Amino acid sequence: MDKSVEQSDHVIPEAEWDSPMFNLAQQQFLQASKRMDLDENIRKRLLFPQRALITSFPCRKDKYSEVETVFGYRVQHVLTMGPTKGGIRYHEDVSLGEVSALAMWMTWKCALLQLPFGGAKGGVRINPQLMSRSELQRLTRRYTMEFVNMIGPDKDIPAPDMGTNAQVMAWIMDTYSQQVGHAVPEVVTGKPVVLGGSKGREEATGRGLVYLIQDAAYHVGIELKNATAVIQGYGNVGRNAAAFLEQLGVKIIGISDVSCGLYHEKGLSLGAIDDHIQEHGVLKGFSEAEEISNSELLELKCDILAPCALQNQITADNASYINCRLLAEGANGPTTLEADRKLRERDIFVLPDILGNAGGVTVSYFEWVQNTQEFAWTLEEVNNRLHNIMVEAFQRTLLRSQRDDVDMRTAALIEGIQRVSEAKLLRGVFP
Ligand code: NAD
Repeated sequence: MDKSVEQSDHVIPEAEWDSPMFNLAQQQFLQASKRMDLDENIRKRLLFPQRALITSFPCRKDKYSEVETVFGYRVQHVLTMGPTKGGIRYHEDVSLGEVSALAMWMTWKCALLQLPFGGAKGGVRINPQLMSRSELQRLTRRYTMEFVNMIGPDKDIPAPDMGTNAQVMAWIMDTYSQQVGHAVPEVVTGKPVVLGGSKGREEATGRGLVYLIQDAAYHVGIELKNATAVIQGYGNVGRNAAAFLEQLGVKIIGISDVSCGLYHEKGLSLGAIDDHIQEHGVLKGFSEAEEISNSELLELKCDILAPCALQNQITADNASYINCRLLAEGANGPTTLEADRKLRERDIFVLPDILGNAGGVTVSYFEWVQNTQEFAWTLEEVNNRLHNIMVEAFQRTLLRSQRDDVDMRTAALIEGIQRVSEAKLLRGVFP
């Protein structure tokens, strides 16, 4: 841990909490809390999750005699604000530290957007690409059973994240509903619309990011119809962000996925790329663009760079070579603390992750509200509400950043932390 932010009266326990990603989340929190002069007791209380479940469980493979032992997690960071909310990630790097960091960021994100949730996150350490559909279904159902007592519409509401999707949410909803004896759509969000999912949820994270890019571009003086963008990650967030940017006239000159990066100075044809993915599953092999590495992609000269894949992508090593005016974080935790400092020095405007990708949880909140009230809103209603909430949070964050003379990430964190701190002080300590 960076000693400059560690305060002398507070020793950070290591052991199970010692993970680079969780350290990043803690350091961001400590920096912001120092800046805002946060109550000392609250600071200690918020530095670790309130609850964490670690489980190992069996997953039967399609070859009946094969049973793999896999590890799963669910972490609830703050229970003060209402039920907890956070996605489920299927990825081979999932660990307690990663899930805890993501849960902490969810707390600040929900508070920043003024949604009535605390932060949570879950995950299973597997590579979903190596599993068949039936294996994924069995894994999901068993994982759900492992934490069935932790979740519920009033307790903790999962959603999709990297490696999971609406189908996985449908299996979780079905497994939970089987346990309680009736259908409970509101136990998860990001479900298929026919099962009570919200219109617009699938594309909400990318759409929300682009709403913010519109305002941020205006603020820094980028004219979108003459602008260029590079997007790392072509999954749920990246693909939708690219499509919405293209609709605004932005030229998408670079994209990437786990297989490779693609570059075309005149702009990539997203339609042709989608056809290629439909056939081959990944970007690799697309012939109408130059193939580049993911690190080359991040250093392309462009107006807008949107990391929409993984954490830890913009680091001390490459931050000096990032060549954009606006960094729009769709992924969680893509930028390290050292890189943040360098971006600040270079005057690159950052839309920080807890604001940038908050469109997903905002429409998840709408989905939960619609389910609990048994309403179904139109797409237009969902998008209008999303736009209002995102733009208000952007303006509030920008104002704080100007007023307190802090960068956008610190401003967003202060907005979130302050709301949670206020709620904690009002609720008091039990007993
Ligand atoms: P996804 O699984 O749909 O897509 C991930 C994409 O990243 C894929 O195209 C994959 O090939 C690519 N990728 C993986 N490893 C890569 C690498 N090393 N280099 C380049 N590309 C790589 O996941 P998603 O739901 O789009 O999530 C992406 C990020 O956005 C994650 O950080 C996630 O936590 C965050 N996020 C997602 C949502 C949501 O609603 N899905 C909401 C908020 C935040």
